[in-house]
Amino acid sequence: MKIVKFGGSNLKKREDISKLVKVIKSYEKPLIIVISALYGMTDTILSTIEQVNHNYEIIDELKHKLLKAHKDILSDYLFEAEQIQLTFKELENRVELMKRFLLGIHYIGEAPDFVKDHVLSYGERLSAFTLFKILNQLQISCKEATPEEMGLLTDGEFSNASVDFEQSSDQVASFFNEQLIYIVPGFYGISPSGKINLFGRGGSDYSAAAIAKCVKAQSLDLWKDVKGFLSADPKIVPNAWNIKKMSYQEAAELSYFGAEIIHPRAFEPLKADNIPLNLFNIDGDLDDIKPLTVISSKSVKTNYIVKSCSYTNDIGILQLKGPGVGVKPGILADVTNAMKMEGINIKSVLTSQTIISILLSSADLYQAYQLMHRLNVHGINEVALKEDISLIAIVGEGLNDTPGIAAKLFTAISRKKINAKVVSMGVSDVASYIIVDAQQRNDAIKSIHEEFFNEKHR
Ligand code: ASP
Ligand code: MG
Repeated sequence: MKIVKFGGSNLKKREDISKLVKVIKSYEKPLIIVISALYGMTDTILSTIEQVNHNYEIIDELKHKLLKAHKDILSDYLFEAEQIQLTFKELENRVELMKRFLLGIHYIGEAPDFVKDHVLSYGERLSAFTLFKILNQLQISCKEATPEEMGLLTDGEFSNASVDFEQSSDQVASFFNEQLIYIVPGFYGISPSGKINLFGRGGSDYSAAAIAKCVKAQSLDLWKDVKGFLSADPKIVPNAWNIKKMSYQEAAELSYFGAEIIHPRAFEPLKADNIPLNLFNIDGDLDDIKPLTVISSKSVKTNYIVKSCSYTNDIGILQLKGPGVGVKPGILADVTNAMKMEGINIKSVLTSQTIISILLSSADLYQAYQLMHRLNVHGINEVALKEDISLIAIVGEGLNDTPGIAAKLFTAISRKKINAKVVSMGVSDVASYIIVDAQQRNDAIKSIHEEFFNEKHR
């Protein structure tokens, strides 16, 4: 069995649906399709949740937006009046259910975690329903299959759950027992207490990977609107090229460090059973379908060693300074525990004798800074922030055991007179990163790409 996943980027315009249908027809049955919400819908629902406390009207505004978007798509495929009426009615009923939750938030004045997760799942519920109705109309035998029906259970962490494979695998595998196409809304599973539970933003990739693991799928095919993984962001390096093969670990590091193609956690469920992840471009030639990047456990070393260079601006450094931070035990534990209690995720930690540098998402930086001031950790006498920085990662199998990689990286940036504020080498087997001033990011990336990939430097 194959798992096919279509993301929001495949669901931007009404016309996109015809491409989806063409792709779906090219697969053999049985098939499991995991689908995201229509493009931008999750953001729209989220901003509604954020405003609904003080804005009652916004509930109906959202309702109309959702209904219009899905009805527009449906009306391209449904023609009989009675059928249109029935389908629209069903859609309206579902949206009405969502509305109740929003009314609840409005009246109690806050959105508890589980309610937020529930409401946000509607983007996927409605797109899955819509695709189901369309395929049905086209006489493609298919079925809606929700995470609640199949028993895709989570660990219960609201807004950021993981699948509990021990509880889920068998029941999910035995659920898919017919020779047809199943359409699964991505993005959520069911918490131990039976509540809707999201896998985090962009989490439909993870849904698809988790289901692939449960059913021991032959492959996971992700359809996106990009040309696979590239050697760099083509907006910065126009001649960046496609990477045909990558290991899970390389792809995970690239995704973690900013390549916004696949959810960084989508690789972890695939590893144990070595289920290949094939990346396809929906805007490519659909009469001659070929994956642009294949990700599997095979680690292939290329001549260049480095395969790709990615970056993220979603990074800030919290610096904790004190004469003895490198030698006094317990400081790091106090700091990281306090951050855990506040729900702040630490991306990376680097320590020296006198400074602990904690890499955080930009959104968490001030909260962490204030927390450190409040906490007044023993041994730390100064807390500082570094912002307006970018993290640039180079990724490739063999990076750590090949001499000269670090030298090349530094040659590349020093040629442009760029200073690396932070450097991390040797921590991961396949990735290293540097942090530079945000304004110097593009120059650094161009120079690094040139240094590693240009013929004359080979
Ligand atoms: N619709 C969800 C989001 O926008 C999940 C996904 O697209 O994968 O985060
Ligand atoms: Mg998405």
